[in-house]
Amino acid sequence: MNIDSNELTSFYNLTDEYENILQDKERINQLKLLKNGIRQIMGDEFWKEFSEKDLVSFFGKMLIHKTDIKAGNNSIGIAIYLEKSKFKHSCEPNSTIAFSGSKLILKANRLITQNESPTISICETNLSDLERKAYLKKFFYFDCHCSKCIGVEAQIQQEKIKKIKIDNWYVLISFKKLIMNSKLISI
Ligand SMILES: [Zn+2]
Repeated sequence: MNIDSNELTSFYNLTDEYENILQDKERINQLKLLKNGIRQIMGDEFWKEFSEKDLVSFFGKMLIHKTDIKAGNNSIGIAIYLEKSKFKHSCEPNSTIAFSGSKLILKANRLITQNESPTISICETNLSDLERKAYLKKFFYFDCHCSKCIGVEAQIQQEKIKKIKIDNWYVLISFKKLIMNSKLISI
């Protein structure tokens, strides 16, 4: 099988979240299971070509960049699409991926201006704000700052400010009552 050298370079340049994977016990256990499974099929000799660092890196690339190839709602395989990996994630994406066989197609969800880059979502967009954030952090190791998440963060900040204001009012009113009461007592 001939592998295009540009594609190979693109593959090696994919992010692998190496440090995060190493510290993630759940993922390391998955990798151990995977290695045992492959060892049974390919034999011990197969692993000698790869260092432990290579394996963690390949595993990380697979986890972060894998795509479920779908026929309707059914998953028919998993692949890494190097071109797709260039698209940034957004919880409010301007594009969606679809398939024609195993060929990946990018569909625009709305008009995309010249200054915009295509974005896709790597999580279910119908999850709640907190669920989305938790999912992206757990499986992709990042805090999302897309337009939707920034809006949510601003909303949380505003709620906090509102709460502080209300708390201050409450303290102020209580303080006023206290003074008035003490005046009443002193009278
Ligand atoms: Zn987001």
